Amino acid sequence: MTKRATVVGAGIAGLTSAIALAESGYEVVVLDRAAAPPKPSLGLAITGNGLEALAAIELRGVVERAGVTTRMGRILTDAGTPLMQETETGAGDIVGIREETLLRILADRADDLGVETRRATLVRSDADLPETDLVVGADGLRSTVRRWIKPRVQPDYSGAACWFGISDALESTPELVTSWVGRGTEAGILPLDNGAFWYISAIDRQRGPSTAGEKSAAEAAQLGGLFEAPLSEHIAATQRDAVTRQPLFYLPTGLPRFTSTRTGTPALLVGDAAHAMVPSLVQGANQTFEDAAVLRVLLRDEPNIETLFARFNEERVQRAQRMQIRSWRAIRWMQATHPVTGAVRNAALKLMPTMVAEILTDWHGRWVSPDAPR
Ligand SMILES: Cc1cc2nc3c(=O)[nH]c(=O)nc-3n(C[C@H](O)[C@H](O)[C@H](O)COP(=O)(O)OP(=O)(O)OC[C@H]3O[C@@H](n4cnc5c(N)ncnc54)[C@H](O)[C@@H]3O)c2cc1C
Repeated sequence: MTKRATVVGAGIAGLTSAIALAESGYEVVVLDRAAAPPKPSLGLAITGNGLEALAAIELRGVVERAGVTTRMGRILTDAGTPLMQETETGAGDIVGIREETLLRILADRADDLGVETRRATLVRSDADLPETDLVVGADGLRSTVRRWIKPRVQPDYSGAACWFGISDALESTPELVTSWVGRGTEAGILPLDNGAFWYISAIDRQRGPSTAGEKSAAEAAQLGGLFEAPLSEHIAATQRDAVTRQPLFYLPTGLPRFTSTRTGTPALLVGDAAHAMVPSLVQGANQTFEDAAVLRVLLRDEPNIETLFARFNEERVQRAQRMQIRSWRAIRWMQATHPVTGAVRNAALKLMPTMVAEILTDWHGRWVSPDAPR
């Protein structure tokens, strides 16, 4: 008999998991409370580990073709003093892609595999689910499914917010990812297909976790003025109502497992629902690709759901939580507010040979599939 899976959430995690399940022979329904995908203002950096994981669910080629292949470029101070030079080898390839494009690719593939997506469908409790053999909670930072599994783990505000947008292609768009660090702030530009994603992240004690959006463009322009010229140009070349300010939340690493059989129907958490992290190491979506790739391999190798869950936890919990912790450390380091910490950071970035930075980036990102020889 065909097994049925219900995925809650049609974001990146929900759609990649739905693809892994449908490729493994499941009949899949995806439920999302939103009537339409989110408004297009986010650009994503897909790092080496994410690309490896996408290859395991046969999506690497299409994503690479739709995005722009680039790599880490220079890191400068807010005044434009170079701290770290660009990497010189092909190590650390990154694909820059619009979230909108990625979601379309995933939705098309899910559709081709016969996944049914029901929008404007809010899940409040398991009573809202259709009959199913497996529930996948891909419902983001404030996950409802997570509340059934571990009600006490709640998202926390990082103390920082991020202003971002997508500008048209400009002459000043760098070919490589370029970043700036200042006092309590960092910023960057990621080249995309026909445009660029820019962001400024800053400690924001004034507005705290408020999400009110109407002042975002003015605030971004003001913050952009603290950095070198290309950033202000990109902010000015972005439609005012397409500039977003997002307070940065993360999930504390209190989940001992991403799975549960407590409610009767086996449930599994993926993406931000399981391991939301601040975006300082650009790993949120990349970790969701790893979730889906692991799920794909285990669905093939483990017919028993309890063994599958045990192996999923072994492969994913420690790995994702390590990324959450490293991302947290990175944001504190890159957005240091104390002048002495900032000076130490700048000196460390300046002194670190590019080759060492490349090796560290490769090591920290390296993902090994559960079916690879170890
Ligand atoms: C500024 C910024 C830059 C980033 N840059 C990068 C990057 O470069 N690289 C990277 O890898 N990551 C990056 N990230 C992180 C990445 O965007 C997220 O980790 C990723 O989008 C999470 O996807 P998700 O599907 O888990 O969650 P979401 O995108 O939040 O999707 C959850 C879905 O569930 C639905 N939903 C929620 N509750 C319910 C419910 N009760 N019933 C039904 N539906 C529900 C929602 O409508 C939504 O569609 C960045 C994040 C930010 C903020």
